[in-house]
Amino acid sequence: MNYRQKLILEKLAARDYMTIEALAQEFGVSKMTIHRDLAALQQAGFVLKQYGKVTAMPKRNSSWADQCQMCGQKIKEQNAFTLVSAEGNLYRLCCPHCGLMAYRQHGDSWQTLATDFLHGHVITAFQAHYLIDLELTICCSPTVLAFDSRAEALKFQKGFGGRVVDFYQAVEFINQNPIRSQIHGGSQ
Ligand SMILES: [Zn+2]
Ligand SMILES: [Zn+2]
Repeated sequence: MNYRQKLILEKLAARDYMTIEALAQEFGVSKMTIHRDLAALQQAGFVLKQYGKVTAMPKRNSSWADQCQMCGQKIKEQNAFTLVSAEGNLYRLCCPHCGLMAYRQHGDSWQTLATDFLHGHVITAFQAHYLIDLELTICCSPTVLAFDSRAEALKFQKGFGGRVVDFYQAVEFINQNPIRSQIHGGSQ
């Protein structure tokens, strides 16, 4: 660890987060240099880079990866959504609703994974079928569910209403229906 990396950790210990911009200014170096410092620190498990901000990594036993990075809700694998940005940052979201919200903010992500709601296996989010506008709230509202198979999405639609759309239509839906309320149900 170099001297600057050590100072970065000390600074982070004193506050919730710092932006990469602020760190670059603070040390009078380029953002690229800070990125390199942080990449090394992240690899060593000391910090977490997300949304251009950096936070000190919570202690080992706390579970940042179990919490949605949009709404803070605990992630259940059945509905989980994962984005990996072009910079290699990992974003874990509780459901397609939060996943598509995050995608809107990080459109440059090169890997986007959803979970098939019925079977729980991981699918490429771009190729998934989404059920929107349904008469049921699962996780966040308005609820979006992801399916591998269009036939199964349509079957689900018969029971719960709504529309079956593709990835970009689902993003558009989230665009037009920003969060009405988060953390629904709350059943643990
Ligand atoms: Zn969420
Ligand atoms: Zn959710």
